[in-house]
Amino acid sequence: MSKKLIASTLATLALLPAVAMAQAWPSKPVRLIVPFAPGGTTDIIARIVGPGLGKEFGQQVIIENKAGGGGSIGALELIKAPPDGYALGMATVSTTAANPAINTKIGYNPLTDFTPIINIAATPNVIAVHPSFPAKDYKTFIEVLKKNPGKYSYASSGTGGIGHLQTELFKNLSGTFIAHIPYRGAGPALNDTVAGQVPIIFDNLPSALPFIKDGRLVPIVVAAPQRLAALPNVPTFKEVGLEPVNRMAYYGLLGPKGLPKDIVDKVNASTRKVLEDPAVRKRIEDTGSLIIANTPEQFAQQIAAEFNVYKDVVAKQKLTLD
Ligand code: GLU
Repeated sequence: MSKKLIASTLATLALLPAVAMAQAWPSKPVRLIVPFAPGGTTDIIARIVGPGLGKEFGQQVIIENKAGGGGSIGALELIKAPPDGYALGMATVSTTAANPAINTKIGYNPLTDFTPIINIAATPNVIAVHPSFPAKDYKTFIEVLKKNPGKYSYASSGTGGIGHLQTELFKNLSGTFIAHIPYRGAGPALNDTVAGQVPIIFDNLPSALPFIKDGRLVPIVVAAPQRLAALPNVPTFKEVGLEPVNRMAYYGLLGPKGLPKDIVDKVNASTRKVLEDPAVRKRIEDTGSLIIANTPEQFAQQIAAEFNVYKDVVAKQKLTLD
């Protein structure tokens, strides 16, 4: 055999395991890492699509909550996993944009350390208060905060997360001050707010909505393109003059960097299929969310754009982690 032929045969052989692996994928259960605690929107969306994905894959999808650090612990766990399709992760604004924008020591680059697969849904955000808080509408809310700087605190899904950064932006733009209390996800943050330990919460709507519906939280203002059918009396941040805070969150799927294209395409196609199921659509839409179901390339562009938005917020508002 000529040297050239040997070299090309070896190169072909080297490719074989990857090709064979992708064709056989998945031959065992797939882990889906949720970088926040149970009860938050990341967990809710993962548990809505997880079972359908399992059916599409012909293998179980095991949801693993790896909470902490505003989502960074779960994100780091995902990027350290081999890119073989057996570890996928939920993409959130916190882990792909807000947290890396404020925390320069986070240990990963959201643009190069992940393989974006699909944006599942966009969700509105909400500032809500415990019913004992002395305001039930936006105007009174601002009056109370302005009269009492530092008296009240707010719960968020974690340091560096969307709830933290968006509330800091809200504070700067509205000239108010409330102290930050970070949790390991919106689930535990909601528990303490509903229990009356913390009077105010910034949350993504899907997790907060059930508490709003049964009167255990009072919605004050939402981040959404227009008023929500579920909360017709609640103004948007845009309406109250705070357009920069009027940004939705997104929830999607990611792999570690280097995830083979055929696995990316298979997960993307399977997720679209799951999102076509009317029961799944209804469950997502009932949370006030919008189904997106885009391509890996479109999702990569969205992540890059959102990362820029948050870098800008951090720089312009001079936000720091201390
Ligand atoms: N607020 C986080 C985000 O949208 C998710 C919080 C949670 O699921 O607990 O990035």
